[in-house]
Order: sequence, then structure tokens, then C-alpha cells
Amino acid sequence: MIFLILKYGSPILRKQLGKVTEEDNAIQLSGNLFETLKKEGGIGLAAPQAGVLKRAFVIDTSSMIEDIKEFEKFEQFFLNPEILWKSPDEIYFQEGCLSIPGIYEDVLRADKITVSYFDINFNRIEEEFDGLKAWIFQHEYDHLEGILFIDRLSHLKRKLLTRKLNKIKNLKTKQHGSKTSNSKN
Ligand code: ZN
Repeated sequence: MIFLILKYGSPILRKQLGKVTEEDNAIQLSGNLFETLKKEGGIGLAAPQAGVLKRAFVIDTSSMIEDIKEFEKFEQFFLNPEILWKSPDEIYFQEGCLSIPGIYEDVLRADKITVSYFDINFNRIEEEFDGLKAWIFQHEYDHLEGILFIDRLSHLKRKLLTRKLNKIKNLKTKQHGSKTSNSKN
């Protein structure tokens, strides 16, 4: 099933999320998130972006490595992830987000992280990521905390984006408005 991606302005993107338990259908959630990510051509998708209030996300760098050959393919589903350690070394990456279309800005993040998570069979895993993997992981992890990459920009930079962000917000309201009127008919 392809999810509809929630856009900036949706309160769901700011909500507190529950842990995924063995009673949740993790296999189905993983399949749907991967399918949606592939269709949208992104490299990461967190459950709340799909309206699912659970601590889970997927990463799939396939669409990125088509353009940049030196990146290795990385495709994984993460349940209840935690960041255990962040390196003091930080690095800028230009980020975008499927929930904030058309905006790309440099964000400073730790170059190396140690993380824990559960795989689809609920095995707990600890792993160290660096570079691209660490960067995508931190972006997706932020979604589980209700944080968007624009929150990490300077006050001034964010101010400069106000008009663009309001446009995304208003588009969302209009879409919702037309849906409501349709369902009434
Ligand atoms: Zn995002």
C-alpha cells in the first residue's frame, strides 16, 4: 500500500510516537514504507510522515546511488531506534525532506553515531554508522522526535524560508479542504 506523505504543517509530524511492539504488523509497515519511498524517489521515510504514530523508519539509498556512484547501497528497516553516541565531529550535508518539498538546505550533523534498533524479527542490534548512513539515520530519527530539518537551521535562514514554508502549509490545507467537500457530496 502506498501511503500519502504528510507535508509540513501537519500536526502529526510533531506528535509523540509509541514504540513498535510485536503485536504491530512490522512486516506490513516495513513493506508499505519501502513501497512509498520507492514511488516518491526519496532515500528515507519515517512512519509519522505516512501518518503512522510509531517509532520506525526505512532507508533506501537506491535513488541516490544512481547519481553518485561512490555511495554504497543501503536499504534497511529500523524499529524503535536510539542514538547512543554522537561524535563531536560534525559535517554539513545538504538535506531535503519528502514532507517539505522543494526546500534544500545545509544541516550540521554528527559525522559518526552509535545506534541501537530492532530489526524486523525484533532482534536488538547495536551498530556504528558514519558518513551518508549516519546522516540519513539522524534525519529520520529526528522525525520520530517530531523534529524537522528546518528546525535545525539558523533563525535567519528559517526566516528566509517563511514564504516557501507557508506555501507548503497552505497547499496542505487546500488539499484537505477539497477532500472534505468531496466526502460531503
Ligand atoms: Zn524527512
